[in-house]
Amino acid sequence: MKRIILKPGEETRIIRGHPWVYAVEADQILSSPPPRTATPAAAVLEAGEIADVESAQRTYLGRALVNPHSRILARIYSPSKEGLDRGFFKRRFREALERRFAAGIDLRQTSARMVFAEADFLPGLIIDRYTGWPLEDLERSLPERPWAFDAALRVLGPPGSWLSIQLLAYGMDIRREEIIAAAAEVLERDAFGFAGPLGLPQGIIEKSSAPVRELEGLRPREGIIKGSLPPGGIGIFENGLIFCLRLEEGQKTGHYLDQRENRLQAARVLGNLAARSPGRECRVLDCYTYTGGFALHAARYGGPDLRLIAADSSAAALEGLRRNRALNALEDQISPMEADIFGLLRDFERKKERFSGVILDPPAFAKRRSALEGALRGYKEINLRAIKLLLPGGILISCSCSHALEAERFKRLIAEAAADAGRRLALLEFRSQTPDHPVLIGYGESCYLKCGVYRVY
Ligand code: SAH
Repeated sequence: MKRIILKPGEETRIIRGHPWVYAVEADQILSSPPPRTATPAAAVLEAGEIADVESAQRTYLGRALVNPHSRILARIYSPSKEGLDRGFFKRRFREALERRFAAGIDLRQTSARMVFAEADFLPGLIIDRYTGWPLEDLERSLPERPWAFDAALRVLGPPGSWLSIQLLAYGMDIRREEIIAAAAEVLERDAFGFAGPLGLPQGIIEKSSAPVRELEGLRPREGIIKGSLPPGGIGIFENGLIFCLRLEEGQKTGHYLDQRENRLQAARVLGNLAARSPGRECRVLDCYTYTGGFALHAARYGGPDLRLIAADSSAAALEGLRRNRALNALEDQISPMEADIFGLLRDFERKKERFSGVILDPPAFAKRRSALEGALRGYKEINLRAIKLLLPGGILISCSCSHALEAERFKRLIAEAAADAGRRLALLEFRSQTPDHPVLIGYGESCYLKCGVYRVY
């Protein structure tokens, strides 16, 4: 086993829980531990192999996946000397499923992230597990809309499941077969708190197309790895709403599971606002709607007076929104709009349009720390414009999924936007991601989602 010896002092962050070793932090690469008398020979690391990490004082820090072509030279996956075989992956998957169970997520009904990379001690590996029924089966068996999970369960039996996986580190990419075999075995055989195994997935799709793969020297790769996907899409239930997922076409792994609880809470807050003036239209603007996540929740749970404009620049996403809108029988309340949000907010401002609520859920403007300055301007601009569009007493729901932007900085940015707009804001609640995206202490990057709920005066 090769050894990576760090420069003096570079172990502190790692001891506190951060799993990465940057190339600039490594002092020497040595071959296997030498016999007592011999001097260790210098070695060269190969992409994807595993190596031990030690401090300058030779304190053992853990075992890591390495990639000499990346700025992140090593990603520690274990504090001990365990190998990366099928048994390892199975142990990790069991632990990950246990964590979701402990957090109260019922994976028999709820689609959730099953593996969240570094935060589940599996660097560079993401697995989302979608549970539901082929849409065509739902269409055939449940004539009345809106559909309910329990009705589907009664008529169609237990839901199926499909995995969407992303391999974002070289060392994971080359172990693809082991990973898939281990995941299938654990799901098929192991019982957790869920009264029996969750069951073998009907299909597994790889969606490894994230730009970070380039930094690892990997090409994008997408496609069905195992089984199949229903041709008409998968119908999953989220908070009692149905979403049609076409995993082959969807962004990222298919659906933004991390906002599941925020969508429901946003709907409650907006609904309470609408309930204050019954019979009067309460207009809400859902910016960056994708397939309608927030808009559908608000329309269903916010009451019939909520009227939403759901805007996104992607025609394909809006196609998904239209499908979901019809499946949930919410056509009357949601109007899709294909637009660039910067331009749209400016237009509404010029036309002096006013809204009772604005939701902002943009993509990560800053994908890395070096891009933060420009991103901050972008976040500030949309928040400033959204605040200006709000009626007094209106609700701003403002999110950022950029890990490079810390929560306190994000709050400050919104405070600055409020001051520039000459408005006062009350923070009702500051939320984060669902617990199937656990936060690894010491690895701040894993606590990435911010969702502020503000009342604007
Ligand atoms: N709110 C969604 C997830 C949003 S993901 C949900 O709850 O599921 C971010 C979305 O922003 C994507 O759908 C993407 O197409 C869209 N987008 C990115 N840049 C945009 C822009 N400049 N204008 C409008 N939409 C944009």
